[in-house]
Amino acid sequence: MSQMVVIGGGIAGLVLAASLGDGRALTIYQEPREASGSGEGTALALAPNAMRVLRNLGIADRVAAFGTQIFEYQILNHRGQLLQRVDLARLTKRWGEGFWCVPRSRLMAALALTANAGRSLNSAQKLVAINPMGAGYALRFSDNSTHFADYVVAADGIHSLVRRSLGPVAEELQYQGYFAFRGMARISHLGWKPSSAFQIWGQGREFGYARMNADYVYWYATWPSRSPEAILLPARKWLQEAFADWPESVGLLLDATSDRDVIVHPIYDLRQPALYLTGAYTLIGDAAHPMTPNLGQGACQAMVDGWVLGSYLRRQSPISAFRRYEEERRPHVAQVMHWSRQMGRAIHVRPRWQACSRNLVLSRTPHWMMQAVVGRTLGRPESLGSLRPEHASAGK
Ligand SMILES: Cc1cc2nc3c(=O)[nH]c(=O)nc-3n(C[C@H](O)[C@H](O)[C@H](O)COP(=O)(O)OP(=O)(O)OC[C@H]3O[C@@H](n4cnc5c(N)ncnc54)[C@H](O)[C@@H]3O)c2cc1C
Repeated sequence: MSQMVVIGGGIAGLVLAASLGDGRALTIYQEPREASGSGEGTALALAPNAMRVLRNLGIADRVAAFGTQIFEYQILNHRGQLLQRVDLARLTKRWGEGFWCVPRSRLMAALALTANAGRSLNSAQKLVAINPMGAGYALRFSDNSTHFADYVVAADGIHSLVRRSLGPVAEELQYQGYFAFRGMARISHLGWKPSSAFQIWGQGREFGYARMNADYVYWYATWPSRSPEAILLPARKWLQEAFADWPESVGLLLDATSDRDVIVHPIYDLRQPALYLTGAYTLIGDAAHPMTPNLGQGACQAMVDGWVLGSYLRRQSPISAFRRYEEERRPHVAQVMHWSRQMGRAIHVRPRWQACSRNLVLSRTPHWMMQAVVGRTLGRPESLGSLRPEHASAGK
């Protein structure tokens, strides 16, 4: 029987494994978790497309039970004045699924449980080299072992070794000129409706937050920097000074965060998805389409990838499943990558006059148009209809 391996047991890799059901043997290689640096101690905003995937896998309610549903986004200027309100009720109704802020660790745990049944998960195996060999691939791991695979799915994240090693024209990641910080504030009351999430846009920087559960608020901040090498530490203290003149909530959240709960990453993306229609390997999640975090869609699209590819693999040969998956996903993820980058650029304009013009345009944009923009990033609910009805009621 042909051997298929997945490199990376992050969100995309686990959703793929969970979507496959029992039919196909699969081995997942995941480097030691402490090396992943993927922010597992923080939270994620999940949109209805991601929740639909979790629903199909039978774990939507289990994950949502640890989070908070978001019914609206408010976008403010750095003085705290409301620029725009994005009501999410209509999209929630259309999809039959909500927008949620959930702990990443709980999402990963629920996915791992669902994915593990009948799968081989090597959780301390870091891929260090991959080369074509015959009709398949030779994979070398950090313990010097070598394995052979007929088919490879790269789910190894933004810095994907598989993409860099096998891609026909492996494009370089592009640094977007800013860093993102993420943290969890232990704060039970902050004087706003827990169902509202906030984005505060300034000149070249942003601060956003949403309640994750009764005890914690998830927050993120961005800051421009010419070089992705710059290290801004200690991060929390530095942010307290950098955002000192911003709305009071920002200071309260930073005060209520412990230093060790703050993580920071330079933000990169690719211009185009790395989906090449080459045959015996494919890429999913950030390995295929690293995008800026400005639309909160990276993990959501990674989950959709895993589900769509898993659905094809259940019914078709790997080669034709890879091809169908890439043809179906490429146009949409290319658009989301582009919109996300554009959104990042608009948020991070630095001259005062540009930030003022942006705020003016934003405040005059009709609400329905904002909803339409969010709706288009999600794709179509019909494309994610449950192909495995037996999953729909499991695990609730
Ligand atoms: C600041 C910030 C905020 C974000 N907020 C959101 C949000 O609110 N909502 C949202 O949808 N998305 C968000 N994202 C994006 C989201 O984090 C990613 O899109 C998502 O984690 C991608 O999942 P993935 O499984 O493709 O990659 P990853 O989560 O990076 O998983 C890749 C896995 O592969 C493993 N791996 C890597 N290399 C190897 C190797 N050589 N051998 C073995 N294993 C390997 C890693 O350890 C990891 O476990 C945010 C991103 C950032 C930077």
